[in-house]
Amino acid sequence: MTKLAASAWPKADLASVGMPSSSVSLAELSTGDLAEAVHAIKNGHCYLDWRLFQFALSMFDHAQAVSKNVAVTQRSILDLEAQTALELQMSLDSTDHFARSLLDDAVCARDRLPAVFSTMRLGLIDRARFHRIVAETQLVRDDETMALIDQTLALQIMGLRGGVSSMSITKTGHMARRLVAEYDPDAEKLDRDRAKASRNVGFQALDGGMAQISITATAEDVRLVRQLLDAVIAGLCPEDPRTKAQARSDAAIALLQRTPFTCQCDSDGCTAQITDVELDARAARIVVHVLCDATTLDGGDQCGYLDGYGPISGDHVRQIAERDDSVIHQHDLNDLLEPEAQSDNDLDEAAVHRKGPRPDSPDECRADDPRPDPEIDENGAAASASDAGSDTQAADGVSPPRFLIAKTALPSDPYRPNLLTDLVARFLWGTCSIPGCERAAFACDLDHVAEFDNICPSNGGPTCICNLLPKCRFHHLMKTHLTGFLDDLWIDDDGRYHASVTTPGGITVELLAPNQWLFPQLADLRCRHQLAQQSATGSAASTVDQAPERSQTRTAAKHARRRAERKANYEQRAVGQARRQAAEEAAAWDDYEAKRAIGEPPF
Ligand SMILES: [Zn+2]
Ligand SMILES: [Zn+2]
Ligand SMILES: [Zn+2]
Repeated sequence: MTKLAASAWPKADLASVGMPSSSVSLAELSTGDLAEAVHAIKNGHCYLDWRLFQFALSMFDHAQAVSKNVAVTQRSILDLEAQTALELQMSLDSTDHFARSLLDDAVCARDRLPAVFSTMRLGLIDRARFHRIVAETQLVRDDETMALIDQTLALQIMGLRGGVSSMSITKTGHMARRLVAEYDPDAEKLDRDRAKASRNVGFQALDGGMAQISITATAEDVRLVRQLLDAVIAGLCPEDPRTKAQARSDAAIALLQRTPFTCQCDSDGCTAQITDVELDARAARIVVHVLCDATTLDGGDQCGYLDGYGPISGDHVRQIAERDDSVIHQHDLNDLLEPEAQSDNDLDEAAVHRKGPRPDSPDECRADDPRPDPEIDENGAAASASDAGSDTQAADGVSPPRFLIAKTALPSDPYRPNLLTDLVARFLWGTCSIPGCERAAFACDLDHVAEFDNICPSNGGPTCICNLLPKCRFHHLMKTHLTGFLDDLWIDDDGRYHASVTTPGGITVELLAPNQWLFPQLADLRCRHQLAQQSATGSAASTVDQAPERSQTRTAAKHARRRAERKANYEQRAVGQARRQAAEEAAAWDDYEAKRAIGEPPF
């Protein structure tokens, strides 16, 4: 091979892999056709990455085979890696560092993550996502635990178990991190301790007479600082000429240099509110949300979720809970249920920690959200208990199930979700619900997917978990103003929450709620809108027959969690066997291919 060898790609017929034939003029293709071609390229990237790993491994094997014939002193594993990396470096035209990293990932794919590796072949993840998984799982030492994590991740990536079918690199990392934290808490702790020990401040010269400072600190501290900067610049008057990014930079420098941060408008009537007193008042209302199961606070391994960051281990949750500035609030999903308010005091299903006092106004803690904060109605959530009971009669005269998700809106304002509904809707999705957007859920608007009808609420979309999706301001505006942009939200028969987005070009992307693991009880609950919809389509009877009993207590909720875990373990066992038996493994992939073939959304 020489580097000047002609590329065969221009002559290859790529129509067989879903790309338009070279004889077709692109102008003749619709946006949908082009999107399919783009998607085929994405699948191809993943597949070629898979193939590249295999080639690299084969090169490595060859190097090992040859080394058996040479002197012992030359057989060190490092030499073999270096030799193989050299071949890769030359053929890829890459750096030595890139080639070695590629080979490391390939060896991991074979030895530690074979099931996840298979999903590259299916076009589901590329090398960047694989690399992120390698990094998140690198400290897992026990082979069996590693195999369990590998198989579970592969299932999640394939959307066969609660995973997201549309995955950013960040969300792929979240999936792996959560599994490591729950299956191997020691590895997670070690990883976190090492990471924490490496906190630092970096300085780098940039072009144009600029330089960069980067501060590495715990996720919760960085989250607080970020919100602090937003709280500072929120006080600028509308005439200030800077972008938000510029203003944040100026505010951070001013804070670090202990110089005043001022509005830069030339207006005589400047309305800036950035005196120390005003800044302190806003800073005191900053909140960083963490949600976890109550058992996690008692020492359990169940992960929590830090808004703006992702899953964090039980140990990490407890560290945050122990901070002086943490406040713990306990909530019970049963408070959403009809027909009656919970009467006992067993209200400790879930907990939210927050920093600082409860905000008086959302404009302070969610700078760009114009709506009043539902959290100020925290006590009202319980008080609204018996308000929504009168219209839960299912159609066809069938008695509704005894317990339904029904108490979701404020009795005083049906447009606004109550506190608990607000929390569930945000944490369930974790970020803006548009695939690929990582804006933190608490910095998003809660959007009524089916529009709310202000004049006659019963005609419009409900204020309920079944109809509320977090959307960042940008995507919220896009939905509102871009003709043909459509989103949807639905609950399947297993109680799993799905969303989809259709672009004006006709491309539909579907995903499962990435954080349903935080609310295993939801799988057993149905809301009255969902039941009404099912009865309208004729399937109400069976649903009502199987309607879940209300999980009365923490114990019952625990049972729900266990049921979910059992189901998950059953699947894990099934896949464990499959891994040992190649035929069964192949069947699992075939099943996935079959699902795709019968019209499951392709991405
Ligand atoms: Zn001003
Ligand atoms: Zn509903
Ligand atoms: Zn967004």
